[in-house]
Amino acid sequence: MKYRFQYILSFLLVSSFGFAQNYEAKVDSIMNLMTLQEKIGQTVMYGGSWDQTGPIVGANNGKYIREGNMGAMLNAMSVKGTRDLQKVALEETRLGIPLLFGYDVIHGHRTIFPINLGLAASWDLKMVEESSRIAAEEASAEGIHWTFAPMVDISREPRWGRISEGAGEDVYLSSEIAKAYVKGFQGDDLSKPNTILACAKHYVAYGAAQAGRDYHTVNMGEGELRNVYLPPFKATIDAGVETFMSAFNELNGVPTSGNKFTLRDILRDEWKFEGFVVSDYTSINEMIPHGFAKDSIDAARIGMNAGVDMDMMGHIYRKHLKTLVEEGKVSEDYINDACRRILLAKYKLGLFDDPYRYIDEEREKTTKYKPEFLTKAREIAAASSVLLQNNNSALPLSNNTKKIAFIGPLVKDEYDIIGNWAAKGDRKGKAVSVFEGVSEYLKPNQILYAKGCDILKDDESGFEEAISISKQADAIVLVMGEGHHMSGEAASRTNLKIPGIQPRLIQKIREANPNKKITLVLMNGRPINLSEEINLVDAILEVWFPGTMGGAATADLLFGTVNPSGKLTVTFPRNVGQVPIYYNMKNTGRPIPENNPKEDYKSNYIDVPNTPLFVFGHGLSYTNFKYSDLKLSANQLTHSNTITASVDVTNTGDYDGHEIVQLYIHDKVGSVTRPVKELKGFQKIFLKKGESKTVSFTISVEDLKFYNSEMRYTVEPGEFEITIAPSSNFKFKNTFNLID
Ligand code: BGC
Repeated sequence: MKYRFQYILSFLLVSSFGFAQNYEAKVDSIMNLMTLQEKIGQTVMYGGSWDQTGPIVGANNGKYIREGNMGAMLNAMSVKGTRDLQKVALEETRLGIPLLFGYDVIHGHRTIFPINLGLAASWDLKMVEESSRIAAEEASAEGIHWTFAPMVDISREPRWGRISEGAGEDVYLSSEIAKAYVKGFQGDDLSKPNTILACAKHYVAYGAAQAGRDYHTVNMGEGELRNVYLPPFKATIDAGVETFMSAFNELNGVPTSGNKFTLRDILRDEWKFEGFVVSDYTSINEMIPHGFAKDSIDAARIGMNAGVDMDMMGHIYRKHLKTLVEEGKVSEDYINDACRRILLAKYKLGLFDDPYRYIDEEREKTTKYKPEFLTKAREIAAASSVLLQNNNSALPLSNNTKKIAFIGPLVKDEYDIIGNWAAKGDRKGKAVSVFEGVSEYLKPNQILYAKGCDILKDDESGFEEAISISKQADAIVLVMGEGHHMSGEAASRTNLKIPGIQPRLIQKIREANPNKKITLVLMNGRPINLSEEINLVDAILEVWFPGTMGGAATADLLFGTVNPSGKLTVTFPRNVGQVPIYYNMKNTGRPIPENNPKEDYKSNYIDVPNTPLFVFGHGLSYTNFKYSDLKLSANQLTHSNTITASVDVTNTGDYDGHEIVQLYIHDKVGSVTRPVKELKGFQKIFLKKGESKTVSFTISVEDLKFYNSEMRYTVEPGEFEITIAPSSNFKFKNTFNLID
């Protein structure tokens, strides 16, 4: 007890310092009182005993906290559980240092937004920020201080289940989205009780797991690492992210949770990151089965020396770091640095001023599922959906249609629609199913419904009813896709088709209704192989796992109250054999001539074209947009001037709508080869029908930089191709030169 007063006294002494300095001085004053083991205690995150309401002061939790052997807690599930544990930390430990409570707040907390890959398809940075702001409001009201988000792993691997948690395949777009998440979670002032720490994960290259198998090996040249996989992480630092998470995978033979090169040389020395790094769940321990650490003592040594400041659930920092310091195998400076960074985060959150400030039952009650949050979730889910195909103007549907058949295992679903990583998003009761959504538009006698089949079970007994109602209907809407457990962690697939017997049902329904308009609404967490379905249905609306208000948003799109505007941020392949396939690939020495795509001895397949089914940036609208008059303000760029590229976009169709206008550049010749095209800017604009707007982008040398073979971030003079387009499917026609 005496010590607690002592550090309070020392805070008073330093309180005349400036704000930031003040924190540093406060941290120093408390660290002067801490033993080595107590400092190590701050580097330990533990989950532990649970009851139905969340973590309890069970035997181990209580013990570790009281001994000063625990600085953070994973999965604080309830306000009460959080309060009980915080009380132990404050009142029953020598120094009374508050605990930090972390939780996976990934795409919403209570109010669930579309899975991150879906949200990215909105290309709407404001919406990304709003969604993470709302998530932080709800999470902080339940005692949570820290989210393990955003996941900023680039992925070009639809087999990888966690592609659903990221923003897709593009470097520039993923970086912009990463910044928006951080701003939303952390707000403008972390000391406000409705802001939470963000965490850039999984550092690094986790999305490049070999063959898309989760946790698998990554072998990658430093050029690709720096040009593709690192930039979104750097972007989060530019946005002020407070924490990083190391990953499960190895990178070029060195596990990323023991990788001095990425954690110290790049993150600390090059990027000057001042926050703290947490391991992924037992990822320090996993260096043993990786074959990189001999035992848990060795793993603890490697993890801390490499720069992982906090051990998530592994128990090996708690057990071994003290001895390792005493034996001179880990420098005490590393422990001090780690402890200092963690304490600093607690100060920034205001936990030393009022450790219970996030624990407020009243705020919890009044914050979750606020009506304005639900309205936002509906708007965002609609903006995140992508109209992949709309033959014969199958969509929008008219609510004057006599009868519409809704068929499929996901029509009435309130469970999968929420997606993965949404443990606090109520799946029953709160979630609006597609059935409920369309019921807002149609009278009961206009709706026919049959489940038809399950997502995975091989049972055709529901086919007959489904086919029969499809025949009675004037239009058909199929709501199908993956179960939410089929994407996310440890959910890699080798088959990218719509799972189970759903494709067979689609086929049968088409056979029974050769002339009717059929729409497929798809829920899924990854690019799906739709090679057969594009010929069986007229319209395909990709709604991902759209979240709490997903069914309502889907209905808004189906009936045209909202005009679809989302565009893909990942390529949809024709089949698994094309994977990896992404828009910003390199050319080969054997480019394929346009007039003979089948020509021999070219870099192509003999059984499918090189093109994907749906390209990056693709997404239709109920209206049409015409691009014309692409102009460059100059055709020479220098280090001191900029060029403006502009294009006129006109809404030539019958609906008002949003369009995502995309700027692409190609560096024609480089000292290392450059991608065939790269997104360098985008704008989401709204055009009333008949309206035109000029959309302009400013280009400077900064937009043309890349890491060369010496790993210098540089720009090289020469010719660049440029265009502004509605998707990545175009041929360049304009060029400019960069002169030295
Ligand atoms: C995942 C992380 C997550 C952590 C904590 C791990 O299994 O890889 O993304 O933040 O668990 O739940």
